Amino acid sequence: MATIRSTSPADDALLGEVPVADCAEIARRAQSALEAFRVWRETPVAVRVERLRVLRRLLAREHRRIAEVVAREQGKPVVEATVTEVFPALDALTFLIHRGPRALRERRVPHLQPFLAGRRATIRLRPYGVWAVIAPWNYPFSIPFCQIATLLFGGNTAVLKPSPLTPLVGEVVVDLFRRAGFDAAVIEIVHGGAEVGESLVLDESVRAVVFTGGPDAGRRVMELAARAPKKVVLELGGKDPAIVRADADLERSARGIAWSAMLNAGQTCASVERVYVDHAARDRFVDLLVRETAAIRVGDPFDDGTDVGPLASAAQLERVVALVDDARTAGAAIRCGGRARADKGRLFYAPTVIVDPPAGCRLAREEIFGPVVAVEGVAGDEIALARANDCAFGLTASIWTRDAAAARRLARRLDCGVVTVNTHLTSFGEANSIWGGTKCSGFGRTHGEHGLLETLETQYLDEERGRRPEIWWYPYTPRFRAMIEEFCTLVGDPSLRVRAAAAMRFVPWLGYLARHTRVLRMGPGLLRYLR
Ligand code: NAD
Repeated sequence: MATIRSTSPADDALLGEVPVADCAEIARRAQSALEAFRVWRETPVAVRVERLRVLRRLLAREHRRIAEVVAREQGKPVVEATVTEVFPALDALTFLIHRGPRALRERRVPHLQPFLAGRRATIRLRPYGVWAVIAPWNYPFSIPFCQIATLLFGGNTAVLKPSPLTPLVGEVVVDLFRRAGFDAAVIEIVHGGAEVGESLVLDESVRAVVFTGGPDAGRRVMELAARAPKKVVLELGGKDPAIVRADADLERSARGIAWSAMLNAGQTCASVERVYVDHAARDRFVDLLVRETAAIRVGDPFDDGTDVGPLASAAQLERVVALVDDARTAGAAIRCGGRARADKGRLFYAPTVIVDPPAGCRLAREEIFGPVVAVEGVAGDEIALARANDCAFGLTASIWTRDAAAARRLARRLDCGVVTVNTHLTSFGEANSIWGGTKCSGFGRTHGEHGLLETLETQYLDEERGRRPEIWWYPYTPRFRAMIEEFCTLVGDPSLRVRAAAAMRFVPWLGYLARHTRVLRMGPGLLRYLR
């Protein structure tokens, strides 16, 4: 049987081994999640809330162990794993416990349309069924954990496929749910790479997919899902811009941007990769950013004195080296870093600030996904905005300024899913927010109420009392035709005179209308509709 060997990116130590799922195993897991769905969907919301409470207690009690597993297998410092992996998971549970039940309630919708007056209409939310949760390695705990908690709370079940780089963290996610009392089949797990992901998407028991990863794999997932078709949520890459205005607090901005660019060794979908700083502040800002970046301590994720750990894999390191070298060759100024840190281990790279990368170089267009930030001077807001939007991606963006009104104006024109002002990335840790992008960064939302609604289908329930036939049923009559044509005029004709004449022609039909509909009982509602 094929297996995946998990090793630590910090020192190559072997951490464990998991079996790769074959097609039969994938089908078995998905089928078992489907059977579990039939029971789980009927579970009262109060029971779901209770399970989440137990899960939250487990998470709170075991936060250190979880953070250490993440640090060991993925490479981010333990403190960072606590802040960016465990804490958002706790917050997601708290959100679902407190705000989730209300969001799931069915809603009565008053009828506006006069011919349907008097009926009872309701919008209900229904789970889709089995979701494939295909997860990346960069936030191997918080991303699938929050997605699965949301899916299960909505009454869905899930099959998780963790990244082959972080299978053990995936096992921790599933184990926590099961120990919190969720039935084993409500959350299944299969291991493997792209092939296993593809088989899972194609599996007939799977009704929907939430995919978090790169744009190429995301496109492929969408292609495969289209065959059924299945619902798809795509959380893809980013190349986030930060706009630094001349009036910004430059010290604070440089500190915040250094963190937002280098967090998790820059392997964050929403890390700052591009800074557009006003010419008036450029030199001072670059000096400050270089000072902050050069002070970042690279090292062992288990060392309390470490800010940035290793990259997650040799492929990641090669990519970062290739993109920085390409920018250097094209003439970009490397103001700090720009080299691997072999003294620390095989996969470490120095936090890097690049100034004015030429437009043609790869760094200017492609997601780098490493500890590298590029800075460019711009002449004012309009140019900054145009540069920020001139990108295939649109995940998040930030504006650094003391002028709140200007920031709000700019935010509206930024093509992305999240805009933050004088901060970046932090809304990922706030379950009440929304998360997701536009353009090549994908579509659909996770987090908060919108994220919960994304996991559910709407069902419209239209209840007629059934005392008489509908007015439009057979046989069609000349009177019905004339009346419906006059009604169209009455609703939409721009001329008041024409509408008044149409209303007059209704007079002989009032008895007919009263017998066949409840239109006349609408009173002022009818006038409002016609207004
Ligand atoms: P990846 O696309 O290589 O892999 C992501 C997951 O998809 C893995 O589990 C992988 O095994 C699986 N996969 C790969 N090819 C597949 C296919 N053809 N069919 C089905 N599954 C397939 O991405 P990665 O390297 O793990 O993660 C990095 C990328 O993820 C970056 O682009 C990053 O920006 C993005 N990301 C986005 C978000 C977000 O919220 N928008 C969050 C984290 C990461």
